Amino acid sequence: MPQRRALIVGGSIGGLFAAQFLRQAGWDVAVFERSAGDLADRGAGLNTSAELFEALTRAGATVNPGLAFHVRRSAWLKQDATIGVEIPRGWHGSTWGTIYRPLRAAFPSALYHAGRVVERVEQDGTSVTAIFADSTRERGDLLIGADGVYSTVRKQYLPEIAPVPAGYIAWRGTLAERDLPPSAHELLLERAAFTIPDNELVVSLPVPGADNDPRPGHRRYYFIWYRPASPAEQRALFTDASGRDHGLAIPPPLIRSEFVAAMKADARKVLPPVLGEIVGRVAQPLLQSITDLEAPRMVFGRVALLGDSAFVARPHVAAGTSKAALDAAGLVAAFAAHGEDIEAALQLYERERLAFGRAVISHARYLGAYLEAGGAAPPRDPERLLREYGAPHLVHEVDFG
Ligand SMILES: Cc1cc2nc3c(=O)[nH]c(=O)nc-3n(C[C@H](O)[C@H](O)[C@H](O)COP(=O)(O)OP(=O)(O)OC[C@H]3O[C@@H](n4cnc5c(N)ncnc54)[C@H](O)[C@@H]3O)c2cc1C
Repeated sequence: MPQRRALIVGGSIGGLFAAQFLRQAGWDVAVFERSAGDLADRGAGLNTSAELFEALTRAGATVNPGLAFHVRRSAWLKQDATIGVEIPRGWHGSTWGTIYRPLRAAFPSALYHAGRVVERVEQDGTSVTAIFADSTRERGDLLIGADGVYSTVRKQYLPEIAPVPAGYIAWRGTLAERDLPPSAHELLLERAAFTIPDNELVVSLPVPGADNDPRPGHRRYYFIWYRPASPAEQRALFTDASGRDHGLAIPPPLIRSEFVAAMKADARKVLPPVLGEIVGRVAQPLLQSITDLEAPRMVFGRVALLGDSAFVARPHVAAGTSKAALDAAGLVAAFAAHGEDIEAALQLYERERLAFGRAVISHARYLGAYLEAGGAAPPRDPERLLREYGAPHLVHEVDFG
């Protein structure tokens, strides 16, 4: 059989997993990444899973326990900073860059083409062509749209599909362990903490520090704070001081200082004092609109969506990277099952990964329902929240033995 060629649009975690797995299965692959330089860490926390580490190992990335920081317990932190409920539910916190870098290092640089922006796709029954912003073209047997939540590939085939705001936003941030207030050490560095002010939620936990350093004293503390926001409030939050509306994603330095100051003042009023202090000390918080993105299809002839281009769940499931890894593994498994028949393999891929994506989205919606502005869902029982949070039935906890 002549070697088949796969064009991968997007060189982030999903694109790299797909490219590496297809290459291992004998495909000629080429990754086209819009960013010209290194992909920068967005600087917030990330949850890992057994499936993610399995996929990293299979992709040839160097995997060691230092890629994530393990806490063995989850606790509900009451307003007075005492522990209300605690269960033996572990979390492996990490950062995006900590996962991306070894994956990128395992992939041959000659096959990774940075600074290449795909504008559209053409296909004729037997091949597919990517057309770039500089008018150059690349031809292959298969094209994978791993180009993220604002996917150009998806927009061509599903122009009506876009992220749908869920009615609340999240403030996120990290603080170096050395900058934590002393009272935080024993209380917060041993467990994932869940704080549940009225209609709000804070999830916080330690993650590895700079350069992937998990040693005590060198870690970072991560928080994500969900707060209801009406459409008008969201528009204001995502509009910078010059009046420019950034839609659903505003660069952190452009968040208006009065909003950051108001958020920090609220943190001191509504959160347990130690957490309010931590939020107050974060120099540059990030602001995120919470949305659902759900594609009704993932395959269009010889073109397949993968990772965030097809489904982006609310962060409660903490499954973005694991889902991308599992999509890539599902893709090569479908090719292994169907040999040379690309269309049949893609049909199988779509059937299985649509079902998984829908399950992830629906669990995330369930977990976030009580945060939606004006939502009718009752406040959650803390112990149940601790047990159901994340996607324990979809992606599994890491066991390093
Ligand atoms: C730099 C970065 C930092 C992140 N940090 C975090 C984090 O801290 N916490 C967290 O929970 N999640 C984070 N994420 C998102 C999360 O990790 C994703 O769920 C995960 O990366 C899997 O998504 P993906 O590979 O499908 O898409 P993405 O990670 O969004 O990657 C899509 C890639 O496609 C490229 N691209 C887009 N359009 C084009 C085009 N037309 N032509 C060529 N290339 C294109 C983009 O530049 C990007 O590199 C981050 C993503 C990125 C890119």
